[in-house]
Amino acid sequence: SPILVWFRKDLRLADHHALAAAAADGAAVIPLYIREPADSGNGPLGDAQRWWLHHSLLAFRESLQRIGSDLVFRSGDPLDVIADISRETGSATIFWNRRYDPNGTATDAPLKKALVDRGFTVNSFAGQLLHEPTRLFNKTGGPYRVFTPFWRALEASGEPPAPIDPPERIAAPERWPASEDLERWNLLPTQPNWASSFTDIWTPGEDGAADRLQKFIEDTLDGYKTARDVPADAGTSLLSPHLAFGEISPTQIWHATRGLKDTPVDDIVTFRKELAWREFSYNLLFHNPDLGRRNLDRRFDGFRWLDNDDHFERWTKGLTGYPIVDAGMRQLWRHGYMHNRVRMIAASFLIKDLLIDWRRGEAWFRDTLVDADPASNAASWQWVAGSGADASPFFRIFNPVLQGEKFDPNGDYVKRFVPELADLDARYIHRPFQAPQPALDAAGIALGMTYPAPIIDHAFARDRALAAFQEIRNAT
Ligand code: FAD
Repeated sequence: SPILVWFRKDLRLADHHALAAAAADGAAVIPLYIREPADSGNGPLGDAQRWWLHHSLLAFRESLQRIGSDLVFRSGDPLDVIADISRETGSATIFWNRRYDPNGTATDAPLKKALVDRGFTVNSFAGQLLHEPTRLFNKTGGPYRVFTPFWRALEASGEPPAPIDPPERIAAPERWPASEDLERWNLLPTQPNWASSFTDIWTPGEDGAADRLQKFIEDTLDGYKTARDVPADAGTSLLSPHLAFGEISPTQIWHATRGLKDTPVDDIVTFRKELAWREFSYNLLFHNPDLGRRNLDRRFDGFRWLDNDDHFERWTKGLTGYPIVDAGMRQLWRHGYMHNRVRMIAASFLIKDLLIDWRRGEAWFRDTLVDADPASNAASWQWVAGSGADASPFFRIFNPVLQGEKFDPNGDYVKRFVPELADLDARYIHRPFQAPQPALDAAGIALGMTYPAPIIDHAFARDRALAAFQEIRNAT
């Protein structure tokens, strides 16, 4: 009887252990994607990722069709769906790649047991990470909470296993089970179509991921160490959404950076360290399932957030009056993505200048990022807030003007995403509120009309944040 392979956030043919094991020896395979119920936490995704998922599923189905197979779409509770398909096809074997986020494990562990009780053979495989989160532990046997020793342990633990090739052909079952119509899942935005500019930079799917990796290695990896911090440059890989949907595995990326004789070692190591941050975030999430909901540093449970709705809304719209923050928030609207340096600045601004709970920012990013990831997003927000494991301390507060001047000195990034400032003299591009009137006039800017005045004074906000932090320090 055919083997079911259940695909989740691993929409690829290459380096897919469950698929390779199922397709070995020419067995018939039924590739399956299940739209899981929203209350399981495995769906629905944020709006930006729904867009991505739609295109990624189409691309994946096409790849499967090219090698003699297909992709079955079904909705519902996975146990019911699998039992139904078993009745339709006679299949009593199912393979999948493991997931490590709390919603995923909360579904998969009891599901596996229920299926085995019903006489199914269930096999699960690794593949989402370089190493399983149960592999690396610190000297006292606990999970790592600090990045640098984690990285050292990861480096010392040897190379991850070599990626495996995609199957050349997959045998079809005698009878295909019924499939739903993907178009009817309504994953794409209706009016207004806020995702229309996503295709400027993204090609969801395994082929898009492979092209991105190849271009990155050829054109961008050399010099990555310095260029990665300049938001106006295309200095990073842009692989994050492909990784989030498993269109490429971290192992494939890691191995693609081996044996590059002409690329400086520093650039390769810095890039691999970023992959290790993803890995570290998953380790944190696996061992702290409430990472996205609860402060790891419990002192922050008593923090007095202000939660001003008007400020929050202006932040989401990129109307704070701080150009680097606004450019980042608008890049998020335009491309479902934001440069890492600017994510840090925008997150710090929300948490420390506006004193808004990091969880609101985390939720906004989850809804709007095409690369939204339960581990990296939660870990990064806690890192910026200072409430996390290996966190930047709360009292390190980014000055959005100085950050802008340092990392976007000519204002190229700001001008790209905040066009109303495009003609402003570069000297004032990060501080239009301090520009002399003639400079504003020359650029056609009426502060408070064509571009907002700052919603808060940074020096005031900084003192206020430090005082709020002092309160929770005094309380412990
Ligand atoms: P590259 O510089 O090319 O890095 C290669 C890969 O390494 C990335 O694709 C990503 O998988 C991983 N990586 C890089 N930096 C980090 C990091 N700091 N933490 C974890 N993994 C990293 N990344 C996400 O993938 N999803 C998120 O939801 C997410 N939310 C974030 C929220 C905040 C507040 C901050 C400050 C960072 C967040 N990041 C998140 C991390 C980082 O910003 C992105 O991974 C990176 O910008 C993706 O671009 P890239 O693929 O070009 O990165």
